[in-house]
Amino acid sequence: MGNYYQPEIETMPVEKLQALQSERLVKQVKYVYDHVEFYRNKMKEAGVEPEDIKGIEDLHKLPFVTKDDLRDQYPYGFLGVPLSECVRMQSTSGTTGRRVVAFYTQEDINIWEDCCARAIMAAGGTKDDVCHVAYGYGLFTGGAGLHGGSHRVGCMTLPMSSGNTERQIQFMEDLGSTILCCTPSYAASLGESINEGGHRENIKLKAGIFGAEPWTEEMRHNIEESLGIKAYDIYGLTEISGPGVSFECEEQKGMHIQEDHFIPEIINPDTGEVLPEGEIGELVFTCITKKAYPLLRYRTRDLCYLTRKKCSCGRTHIRMHKPMGRSDDMMVVKGVNVWPSQIEAVLLNQRLPA
Ligand SMILES: [Zn+2]
Repeated sequence: MGNYYQPEIETMPVEKLQALQSERLVKQVKYVYDHVEFYRNKMKEAGVEPEDIKGIEDLHKLPFVTKDDLRDQYPYGFLGVPLSECVRMQSTSGTTGRRVVAFYTQEDINIWEDCCARAIMAAGGTKDDVCHVAYGYGLFTGGAGLHGGSHRVGCMTLPMSSGNTERQIQFMEDLGSTILCCTPSYAASLGESINEGGHRENIKLKAGIFGAEPWTEEMRHNIEESLGIKAYDIYGLTEISGPGVSFECEEQKGMHIQEDHFIPEIINPDTGEVLPEGEIGELVFTCITKKAYPLLRYRTRDLCYLTRKKCSCGRTHIRMHKPMGRSDDMMVVKGVNVWPSQIEAVLLNQRLPA
């Protein structure tokens, strides 16, 4: 135990954590109302005043924000600060439509990197590690996020970016990479090349932090076998900050959501009703510390469930099951009357890649 980057926050008693969330939420709603016209209009339409939000128990009163809203407001409509306060932008891939561009103040970047540092330390990372970041750099948040987190932990950071497998393996061997950060599919491919090329014995990897793609337990097992590592899942999305919104601890029973920055909810995607802990529905996030791109009740379209069962790692932050599918896909099963009790079985059998 004790692999914490910010132990006081990561192991904060739940009541204290929720009090902190309430305090931050109240401030954030007022901030957003004052600074983002879109929200001001949307809240007026919904008949909600900032004063109506007195704590997390009032969160459900706020209107949702969807990806379409972000696209409609492209590029600057959601900006909560003058452009002169922003220091960075990142962007989604735009594979499902128009790109979303997200902005960051320096403090937003600091928080994001803290989140990634927590994930790296939860995977056993320390300043003695050599952190091999093979996520793509550039507009994609993967490279930038883990790179920043690695710096914060004090790891020796290799900004490899993705591709050029031969060079990846050479640096792994020559520089003694111990932690690999990349997409699970690239980890699997690296594993194959390393074994085919007879490099396995010269590789010192002990852990990997893999995300940005759906992957199965079977894939995890195969990657762990082929690279001789423990493979950790990490979750995030550009709209909310990037990787590190949640991450696995050594228990690997769901990903701890960084609740001091992001409040999660699970809703029925058809009705918007908030579902109780343990039920599967669409994951919604409210950012309570972000300034440049401050989203409230953002519908991720990822389907999963939450649990606050005590985790033996000592972290008190709520855990989410890895996304089991997309709420957009719900249209496929809608009418067949499988929502919500059978949805897990349906998704696990038919939606996830083998
Ligand atoms: Zn844990």
